[in-house]
Amino acid sequence: MYRLINYIFLFIILSSFKTKKKKYISPKSLLSGSKLERRKLLPPKLKKENIKLKISCYRPVRKTGPAMYVENRNNKVIAHNYGHGGGGWSLAPGAAKYVIDKLDLEIKARHLSKNEPIVVIGAGIIGLFSVYELIKKGYTNITIVAEDFSELPSNHAGGLWSPFHIGDISAMKDLVLQIGINSYKFFADIAKGKNDDFKFCAKFMPAYFKEKNRDLELFVGSVLKPAKQVLADFGNGNTKKMYVYDDIMIINTPLTITKLTNKLMNNSVKYVKKTLNSFQELEEKIIVNCSGYGSKKLCNDKNMVSVQGHLLVLKNQNPKSLNYLLTVPIEEGFINGYKVKRLFYIIPRHDPGTPESSIGVIGGTLIEGVEKDVINAEEFNKIIERAKKFYGIKK
Ligand SMILES: Cc1cc2nc3c(=O)[nH]c(=O)nc-3n(C[C@H](O)[C@H](O)[C@H](O)COP(=O)(O)OP(=O)(O)OC[C@H]3O[C@@H](n4cnc5c(N)ncnc54)[C@H](O)[C@@H]3O)c2cc1C
Repeated sequence: MYRLINYIFLFIILSSFKTKKKKYISPKSLLSGSKLERRKLLPPKLKKENIKLKISCYRPVRKTGPAMYVENRNNKVIAHNYGHGGGGWSLAPGAAKYVIDKLDLEIKARHLSKNEPIVVIGAGIIGLFSVYELIKKGYTNITIVAEDFSELPSNHAGGLWSPFHIGDISAMKDLVLQIGINSYKFFADIAKGKNDDFKFCAKFMPAYFKEKNRDLELFVGSVLKPAKQVLADFGNGNTKKMYVYDDIMIINTPLTITKLTNKLMNNSVKYVKKTLNSFQELEEKIIVNCSGYGSKKLCNDKNMVSVQGHLLVLKNQNPKSLNYLLTVPIEEGFINGYKVKRLFYIIPRHDPGTPESSIGVIGGTLIEGVEKDVINAEEFNKIIERAKKFYGIKK
């Protein structure tokens, strides 16, 4: 009897071990993130024949955050809207509305008519959206004066909705947040098919990061849902744990510029190509200054700094597999005496009028203080190297 009880006891102990074994999760499988949702992020093709263009351009960063205010200077009203750094596209509609609302109040206070001549300096995205807002308010006598109308930073931007690298905004956080929310809603309406003026100019797309993104976290709860951790699967045996915001957008920047330009032309906006050295060169009393980095000289704004970026425009890709946005930091250092932050990002931008397979831009660099004529061409190859390393591409 005693022996039988011992056997039963032994059986219970052994079977409890068996059950425990079933529940056991190996540390290796935990590390590989097997419990996380798996997302396929197929890498772009990165051979020589997949690179269409190499572009270097600069972000107009204002160290203390964008200038968005109206001032009276020498009998002129000047509305400033410049210095949106690496987030100009993401902030443009909201910033334009904010500044033009303020200017409108000033014009009304002066009892001027809707036909009062207004000059907008700059034909970048900030200038174009500012004109769009003036037209919406009923102003009819608008001229754009610009040193250049193409090959601007606004023409080269990737098109990720992301108010990044816009200086130290701690003194104006609430304003930037409000403008960012308004801009997000503007593009989100387009993405939802609710804005016929800008059809197909924005699309929702998941954006992947190594960590939760500090700048995007500001918008969680208002327009963005919290990021979630997933397992990025690059389809080549490599995986990485990443955070994803599923409600970011890609802005079709060339299409938006085309639609804005058509709108401006239909409203008889005049265009003058000219480099201004002073506001006094203009006869008009009402000026909207959207000169980007040009404001360093034009306004003697010592807070303005150019932050260079490098982009590779891709071709001969599989358009179905490039359906995600991704940004990861890589390293910081110096190049030719300039401070540099190196990232890797991919934005599946497709320019209208090009083959479907001409999709994607990869970047990025942030080189502080470089003037226009310095290219730092070695950065282009470094971007490809970083991309290969990130995805785990052997050749
Ligand atoms: C590589 C790179 C990638 C980017 N990616 C993104 C992105 O994904 N998302 C995002 O939101 N933002 C992005 N940006 C940032 C964005 O491109 C800029 O913030 C935006 O284009 C700035 O627009 P802007 O109209 O102020 O300036 P600009 O496009 O530089 O236009 C300035 C205008 O002012 C004119 N001008 C200047 N000085 C004078 C003068 N003295 N007289 C007359 N005219 C003058 C110029 O000729 C030009 O017409 C990126 C920037 C770079 C460099």
